[in-house]
Amino acid sequence: MRKLNAQGYGIAGSGLELDLVYNPQGPSLPPDSEILTKEYKQVLAHYDVFFNRLLTISNMPINRFRHQLERDDLLNGYMDMLRSRFTEKNLSKVMCRTLLSVSWDGHVFDCDFNQMLDLPLGGGKQAIHLSELIDLPLANRPIAVDAHCFGCTAGSGSSCSGALTN
Ligand code: SF4
Repeated sequence: MRKLNAQGYGIAGSGLELDLVYNPQGPSLPPDSEILTKEYKQVLAHYDVFFNRLLTISNMPINRFRHQLERDDLLNGYMDMLRSRFTEKNLSKVMCRTLLSVSWDGHVFDCDFNQMLDLPLGGGKQAIHLSELIDLPLANRPIAVDAHCFGCTAGSGSSCSGALTN
C-alpha cells in the first residue's frame, strides 16, 4: 500500500482512488462501514498508509463459505440471522437491479453469486448467452432469487461496491 500511496493512490486530492475491502471472518455481518472506515483510517495513518474508501461486504452463504458453515454446524444459525436482519430499503439497491454478470464463455447471469450457483438469468431454465441479449427486453425483467439473497439484504446490505445503506 505504501508503494501505491507513493504513486498518489489513496492520497486526498490526487484523483487516484485506493479502496479497501472488508468482510467478516465468520458468520456475522460486517460492522457499520462509516465507523469502520474511520477506525481503519486512524490506525493505518499511524503507519503512513492511506486509502479512500473501505467497502464492507457480507459473506454469502454459498460455495466455500457455505461448506464451512455446514461443516461447523453453523449454516442454520447464519441463515436465521440473515433473515432476521432483512432490511427492506436494501431491495432498491441490490446490484442485480442495475448490473449483469458475464461468465468467461459469454453466458449472462443476474449477479456473480447466481453465476457461481449456475442460476440462469431471470430464473429461466436455460443459460442465456450474451449474443442473445440484443433480442431480450431487459427492463423490468425478473431476477432469479433464492435464500442466498438474504446475504445482500441483511443489515446495511452488501454488493460489489460495499454496503447498500447506512
Ligand atoms: S444474490 Fe440475490 S439479491 Fe444479491 S445480487 Fe444476486 S440476485 Fe440480487
